[in-house]
Amino acid sequence: MMKKAVVKKGEAFTVDLTTIEGDGAFPCPKCGTVISPEDESEEVYTIVDTKIVNDQLVELVVMCGTCGSTIKLAGFQQAMEGLTNE
Ligand SMILES: [Zn+2]
Repeated sequence: MMKKAVVKKGEAFTVDLTTIEGDGAFPCPKCGTVISPEDESEEVYTIVDTKIVNDQLVELVVMCGTCGSTIKLAGFQQAMEGLTNE
């Protein structure tokens, strides 16, 4: 009886950068495509949204170019420890 929504533009995931070692590259939680913040060609991923507080990037939302999943990157503040102004 219940109709499920058929239209579904990928799933949403959250990746905590503090759990990532190395250069910050991480595999897409859904399809495994390696997404590297260093790659600015936007062929692998597309930046959907950024959240900046006090001139610091605190949140980045990207879309996987392979499967279309939305991936929210969090943990920038911890990743940039040492830059705090207090
Ligand atoms: Zn993907």
